[in-house]
Amino acid sequence: MTDLDFFLFPCLKDNYGCLVHDPKSGQTVSIDAPEAAPILAALNEKGWTLSHVFITHHHADHTAGIGALKAETGCKVVGPTAEAQRIEGLDKTVAEGDALSFAGHDVVVLDTPGHTLGHISYWFKDAATAFVGDTLFAMGCGRVFEGTNPMMWQSLQKLKQLPAETTLYCGHEYTLANAAFALTIEPNNQVLQDRALEVKRLREAGQPTVPTTLAIEIETNPFLRETSTDIRKQLAMTYASDVDVFSEIRERKNKA
Ligand SMILES: [Zn+2]
Repeated sequence: MTDLDFFLFPCLKDNYGCLVHDPKSGQTVSIDAPEAAPILAALNEKGWTLSHVFITHHHADHTAGIGALKAETGCKVVGPTAEAQRIEGLDKTVAEGDALSFAGHDVVVLDTPGHTLGHISYWFKDAATAFVGDTLFAMGCGRVFEGTNPMMWQSLQKLKQLPAETTLYCGHEYTLANAAFALTIEPNNQVLQDRALEVKRLREAGQPTVPTTLAIEIETNPFLRETSTDIRKQLAMTYASDVDVFSEIRERKNKA
């Protein structure tokens, strides 16, 4: 394990910002930059100084704060190579297989395209924590805006291979709606039913439902459960391929 500190806070309408702080070096990285003001306020609240920003994908609600954060703090901004032309202010670009570290901690870059073509995720391996942006949500997955359903399925398969105890931070608070949808796909999943109630309680108390863990997602997230016999029965797709079942669930969510 590791001594990194994580601080999650809301941005914009339903985005999350998150700071990762290394007490030894004093370095702090912001995962994505939805808007500068709440990120600067979070830094101020914690007494941390921003050294880096790691960007998951080019959408404005993940990048709009870059300019102001750089001007204010002189931080270095890292983002996906495949979206370098679409993101202003990148100092370094990375793709899967590239070495990246933060304050001496290895950060594994995973290509997780589908929501956008160049979307990447950041796995802080020794902290057992991954930032998956808009690829995987608590009980959901990102809309497939630029890629294809099979591409998104591949990306989720990759995240599913991480150790089950991995803590996952995602880009949005969509969990309540995701839980309601998940129950239409797998109404008899007891773990899902229990989690849906817990999520409702948390949201009513104004609490975040993020981060999550891969272990609980594997048990409750329909987009990671395309092999489930119950789900296949529910969808009348008992003998369909995994990717076809996934695609059907994604299409149903698009219409939900
Ligand atoms: Zn997005």
